[in-house]
Amino acid sequence: MENSFLNKEISNDVQLSGAGYVAAVMKSEEGGELCKIIMASPRFCGHQNRICVKCAHEWAWDYTILWDRTVAGRKMKEELDRGTEDRL
Ligand SMILES: [Zn+2]
Repeated sequence: MENSFLNKEISNDVQLSGAGYVAAVMKSEEGGELCKIIMASPRFCGHQNRICVKCAHEWAWDYTILWDRTVAGRKMKEELDRGTEDRL
């Protein structure tokens, strides 16, 4: 369903910021509305409205990030787990 659509969109243009995002739920919100946080490479992130491997931990303060929900999220989680942010 939704996932196959996402896979297609993301694989078509990985670099385009609008095509890659992670799903997240705001912790403070009752019922937790699903948000889409646009992913960026650390160099272009700005660390405010977007998410990258360098600021993912800051997003995690306020949001429960659903890494498995999107392809982009799974990739980023892998990178975080490997600790490769310095190479990006
Ligand atoms: Zn960032």
